[in-house]
Amino acid sequence: MTQPLLLALTIAFPRPGQRLPYVERCYMIGAVGPGPTNITVGGRSAAVYRTGAWATLVEVSPGTNVVDVAGSNHWFVIGPKPVRKPSSGPVKPAPERVYGKLPYADDAARAAPTNRAPGEITVVIDAGHGGRDTGALSPHGIEEKDANLRTARAVRVELERRGYRVIMTRDDDRQIALYDRPKVAHANNADAFISIHHNAPPVDRDPRTVRYSVVYAWNEIGENLGKAINRRLAETLKAEGLKNNGVPRANYAVTRNPEIPSCLVEVDFITSPEGEEASWNPERRRRVAAAIADGFEDWAKGG
Ligand SMILES: [Zn+2]
Repeated sequence: MTQPLLLALTIAFPRPGQRLPYVERCYMIGAVGPGPTNITVGGRSAAVYRTGAWATLVEVSPGTNVVDVAGSNHWFVIGPKPVRKPSSGPVKPAPERVYGKLPYADDAARAAPTNRAPGEITVVIDAGHGGRDTGALSPHGIEEKDANLRTARAVRVELERRGYRVIMTRDDDRQIALYDRPKVAHANNADAFISIHHNAPPVDRDPRTVRYSVVYAWNEIGENLGKAINRRLAETLKAEGLKNNGVPRANYAVTRNPEIPSCLVEVDFITSPEGEEASWNPERRRRVAAAIADGFEDWAKGG
């Protein structure tokens, strides 16, 4: 068995207990067990947290010359941590990317269903990820796909209690292609599409400290829905001290539905220990679901 040649350049596969050569700064990716995994770096203990398919090693000081993975029965990839280059000279704006319209969508933007009874209003709730696509992983190995489904079900309960017609893109652990999700809204002539997710930070950020709620939208009609939901969500989560990042525009496949008001809710960061614990709390989940349903209802009533 030979390792791919590329790996020899910057990356090593240490065996448990193996001592590695000098690495200036490092991070780790690969299979990390449940909970923060402690390794020894230069005689000092450092924690590795799971953040999705990646794990991030935190608290490694430059100049460390030995990384010891003693006691670990997992494999790691160790390499130089990606460093963001500081920009030099005037910042050039990124070229505008042109995203294709969904092939089945039309252009007529739908207005909020302000004059209809809840029973005549259809909302599609999309539990993000599913099946082999786990989404992000929490420090103790909770998979984002499951946290999303639990929250999506709670949102359905809240909306159905108020009389709305709710369709789920999935109600079990299955993989659904990204573009098939907004298709469900289109096929059912839905009035709105809400995708539920839990967030993870980029690999070069400390997953213990990054935490906020945020709602993404792509166009103005999605933004109106997103703002209504985010107002209620931010208010509810403020009570527990969670920050909110507003309603930025984002080109996600599930928000890019030109005529159906669509948004993507990132409830919290499942990668932070506190965010993980909160995602597991049924009472908190019910409050989040009620806030999302309240926001939806504000929007549906023209508020
Ligand atoms: Zn996600």
